[in-house]
Amino acid sequence: MFAKIIIDQDAKALDKVFEYRVPEDLQVSVGERVIVPFGKRNLQGFIVGLEEKSEYDESKIKPIANKIEDFAVIKPEMLQLMLFMADKLHLKLASILRLFLPSEMRTDKIKELIVKYVKISSTFEKLERKAEKQQQIVDFLKEHGQCKFSDVSNEFGYASLSALVKKGAVEVVCEKAFRTPDFDVMEKVIRKLSPLQQRAVDTISQNKTYLLHGVTGSGKTEVYMNLIDRQLSLGKTALMLVPEISLTPQVLANFKARFGNNVALIHSGLSAGERFDEWQRIFFGQAKVVVGARSAIFSPLENLGIIIIDEEHEQSYVSESNPRYDTHLVAEFRQKFNDCTLVLGSATPSIDSYAKALDGEYELVEMPVRVNGMEMPKIVLIDMLMEMRQGNNQIFSIPLIYELQDVIKQKKQAMIFINRRGFSSFQRCRNCGYVAKCSDCDVSLVYHRFEDRLKCHYCGKRYKALDICPSCGSRDIKQGAVGTERVVEELHKLFPDVRILRMDNDTTSKKNGHREILNEFKNTKPAILVGTQMIAKGHDFEDVVLVGIVDADQSLYQSDYRSIERTFQLITQVAGRAGRSATQGRVILQTYSPRHFVYRFASNYDYKGFFKKEANLRRVTNFPPYARILRILFTHEDENLVAQECKVCYNKVKEIKEQYDKEFVYLDVMKAPLNKIKNKFRYQIMMRFKLDHADEIEQKIFETIDENAKSSVFFEINPNNLS
Ligand code: ADP
Ligand code: ZN
Ligand code: ZN
Repeated sequence: MFAKIIIDQDAKALDKVFEYRVPEDLQVSVGERVIVPFGKRNLQGFIVGLEEKSEYDESKIKPIANKIEDFAVIKPEMLQLMLFMADKLHLKLASILRLFLPSEMRTDKIKELIVKYVKISSTFEKLERKAEKQQQIVDFLKEHGQCKFSDVSNEFGYASLSALVKKGAVEVVCEKAFRTPDFDVMEKVIRKLSPLQQRAVDTISQNKTYLLHGVTGSGKTEVYMNLIDRQLSLGKTALMLVPEISLTPQVLANFKARFGNNVALIHSGLSAGERFDEWQRIFFGQAKVVVGARSAIFSPLENLGIIIIDEEHEQSYVSESNPRYDTHLVAEFRQKFNDCTLVLGSATPSIDSYAKALDGEYELVEMPVRVNGMEMPKIVLIDMLMEMRQGNNQIFSIPLIYELQDVIKQKKQAMIFINRRGFSSFQRCRNCGYVAKCSDCDVSLVYHRFEDRLKCHYCGKRYKALDICPSCGSRDIKQGAVGTERVVEELHKLFPDVRILRMDNDTTSKKNGHREILNEFKNTKPAILVGTQMIAKGHDFEDVVLVGIVDADQSLYQSDYRSIERTFQLITQVAGRAGRSATQGRVILQTYSPRHFVYRFASNYDYKGFFKKEANLRRVTNFPPYARILRILFTHEDENLVAQECKVCYNKVKEIKEQYDKEFVYLDVMKAPLNKIKNKFRYQIMMRFKLDHADEIEQKIFETIDENAKSSVFFEINPNNLS
């Protein structure tokens, strides 16, 4: 017997399927991990196929040295998924397989696996053929009862023991105390569904994809839980994904309360041991509901009945680092493979998903009002240029200060949101609000401090940094953003007696940092919580009546074709934190561009109006979902080599462009916006093409680049973040 094996190594040269001989005394099956000799070393590998015969000279094929576990860690669905992802995303096979296992499993850092025991099975009578070793084992087990698998195997040999297991004479029993992640204990409440919720639950009943568009506070979580309940009662399993930052203690507690030990949690806060144990509980079918962040999409659940992606528009569903994948794509594969239901939920669906819903690819389900009948918070736009002209040069506008005073007087709570992403920044005229844009791409330019230049991240065009505003002639040009610390400082000056909490990457880095801050905020009145994107989602605090957005434009002028969409989403999400119970909430939105269409639609909660406008803009400028962006990123320590290679590949791509000239909107080669990271130089080929032949063009490009590139190459389709 011969095994097809993928070696668990990153090297490009090893990215293919190798053949090994299966020794007579080794029982193996597809999906198992094994140790194989490779050159002078022993390496880990995955069995992806078994054949009776080999096409090669059989005498030259080396044997498998050993196996790592004696069960197939990669299930058949996952092998199919691997092929699908390799084809679609052009990733290395080993790097895909790794996504399917807890990383700790590959480094052997976890102490306790499962303890396997063996005992004589109840149906066993006697051995038919005399096999000496096997008879010894039988006698031994009769005498000693249940024993450790490893002990028996060491004593009498693995082959004989597994032969007995295979015959059914000996039974394997797995026993283990699992480490379970911490969670807040909460009482189980099953709420009577509102008519809108009931309608959603009734509608979402078929094995296809639904887009659940429900405003913040419409009670989507309750709908999800009901859908999961239904699948459990049908004997199926469920997978529920939430963005990492909204994996709040509240959400976890809620699911634990509802589904008890049936839930496995997968998120970055788990220790290695916890993560591994949760994975095992899923793998062996003890946990039937998985709640987790992005990587949980690879959970080895069998018999999947439903996949839910909450806050489906969230950028964190795209893995930006290698291997780069989009959770939606994987979810769609698993939906088809399992013939199950897929639900994408959001108050602000991505333009991509909503376009698909309008095209009929997804079924649209709407929940347009809050479950408790509360009005959406009122959003008030504050023109910061006007404030400045009236002599207020502070971070906070006069109306925001008034509102904060009011909140404090009433002993209620407020959240102040600081919009910050990445390290890129734009330049803005403080007098008229002008922001420089690329003349070719209509996206904002990014200021690169080191070179003192403005750059377009899509086409690479460079511009002089602003010193005089081209629109009004002012020299008052500002660059950079205010941080959370600065805001807290200012608030202290204004309200010295009020508890002010801060939540950002710095204050939440330690384990449970999130939880402590949120718990304190929950129990303190009045209080103000200052935070970044982390406070935008999922939280449900009764006494928050005011939300202040300090500089809404920060996300608007990211040089990213999705920046307007993202701004709309952020405002809606942040605003959704206010006024969730008795009093209608208020949102003070400070901006330098009060006339931008995104603020008009956002402040009226007009998603449909916004979609129409934005989708139209994308269509006429040829951006996704109406075109495809492909970036090929080359990185290497040797700048000459990578530049040269990139150039060669570019010329090859140009040949493809000539065949499909009508399809290409854009093609160029350039240094990447961040030209050097960790001593590796980065060059890129950027292109945009229409959709009619997109897959075909893409495949041709993959092939050409594979033939011509030796440096590390990454393909990014519709990337979020161009750095
Ligand atoms: P969304 O995720 O759509 O923003 P949530 O699921 O957080 O909304 O629900 C908002 C609030 O309404 C939560 O406090 C939730 O407990 C409550 N809720 C949900 N469904 C019901 C219901 N049927 N009856 C009463 N309260 C509900
Ligand atoms: Zn100006
Ligand atoms: Zn440009």
